[in-house]
Amino acid sequence: MSSAAGLPKHIHSTGDLPKVAWAKGSYVYDSEGRQYIDGSGGPAVYCIGHSNEEVNDAIKRQLDLIAHGYRYNFSSDALEELTDIVRKRCGGTLNHMVYVTGGSEAVESCLKLALQYQTAVGQMSRRRFIARERSWHGNTLGALSVSGFLERKRAFEGSLLDVSRLSPANAYRPIAGSTPETVGEACAKELEDEILRMGPEKICAFIFEPVVGAAGGCVPAPKGYAKRVREICDKYGVIMISDEVMCGAGRSGTWRALEQDGVEPDIMSVAKGLAAGYLPLGAAIYTDKVADAIHGKHGAPMTGHTFTGHTACCAAGVAVQKIVEREKLVERVHAMEGTLRNMLTEATKDIEAVGDIRGRGFFQAIELVADRKTKKPFDTEKKLFMKIRAQAFENGLICYPVGGNVDGVNGDVVIMAPPYNVTDAELTEIVDKTATSIRQVLKAEGLA
Ligand code: PMP
Repeated sequence: MSSAAGLPKHIHSTGDLPKVAWAKGSYVYDSEGRQYIDGSGGPAVYCIGHSNEEVNDAIKRQLDLIAHGYRYNFSSDALEELTDIVRKRCGGTLNHMVYVTGGSEAVESCLKLALQYQTAVGQMSRRRFIARERSWHGNTLGALSVSGFLERKRAFEGSLLDVSRLSPANAYRPIAGSTPETVGEACAKELEDEILRMGPEKICAFIFEPVVGAAGGCVPAPKGYAKRVREICDKYGVIMISDEVMCGAGRSGTWRALEQDGVEPDIMSVAKGLAAGYLPLGAAIYTDKVADAIHGKHGAPMTGHTFTGHTACCAAGVAVQKIVEREKLVERVHAMEGTLRNMLTEATKDIEAVGDIRGRGFFQAIELVADRKTKKPFDTEKKLFMKIRAQAFENGLICYPVGGNVDGVNGDVVIMAPPYNVTDAELTEIVDKTATSIRQVLKAEGLA
């Protein structure tokens, strides 16, 4: 399984994959005619299902007019309409955006906006980022630097930014000396301690995922955590960045994930659900405070790319967001959070290895453990999560199992992220196939 570089092969090999042929709604078909139900939106992307005609028509209409007007020459109806929609959805003072083509670019722009803000307000010494373990912010060098995902970083160590790293805030695995009730406060204190240890005049920003995705398995911010983080960032002039690439755009049951915590970040990233995978689109969104400083001092943000504000991508975003709004899909996701939780609980109640079921909205995960009492993970050599992914695929289910959630190496979690408009029958199929796949793998491994 190991390559010459000592890295597990799965990290840089896709092996023999089937060819995707077409899809409709919650179902995807390969070139051999095999059907898969999309229980995770790939990695939480396809939030309104596949091949939506309204979205495809909007994209085609835009392509017939013009695919892309370059950002230093033109604005466009699509870009301006999307900006209005996102502003309304964000509420508060998150009124400014830089559009990009994905999550890593969005995070990269968030980091640069934070640095540019500190420069604009005369705080050039504030260059350092603070982030958390068990977090994933993307695959470009800056975003990878702030990520706390051992396996995905190992090959690049030595060339990454020096970042301060805090414990993950996880009610199921509270840090030493804390309980599920006090872990939020304890983890927020770690942030304050690190700011003071380094010196506040050195700290640019703190970045975190309000509901941790790939690196933790749908770990929501513990109660009170985000509010305390907001207070601490304000106290020490540190920019608060919320990475909502995976958990945002309605996935957690509110359009902004942090809305539920009653907190507005200074800067925020969204991507996956924004254009629902129809075309590549992401955004770094920032508040009036950040905009006033940056625009006042430098005129405009010094970030963005050739395809920033890509017209057809923005048109896709507008069409997707109109459907999400018209069909009240965020409200649906919010209302059905308990239903999905109950269905997962019920379907897996006979599986002793299920340690925790958690998450928000249609972003929920099942954590598997070798021992429920001690929460000890399974032997990492077994790579259970990879086997579950393969078994689920075999059973015609796309889900998103990830590993390393316990300590960067150990742990197995299965992430579910169904489309917001999944039917009740489809949700039942997704949950049943998930439970069946887990059961089959545990049995085959002699663990059940
Ligand atoms: N941030 C988070 C929280 C993510 O989950 C991801 C992708 N899984 C990214 C950033 C990077 O996004 P992308 O893969 O679109 O570059």
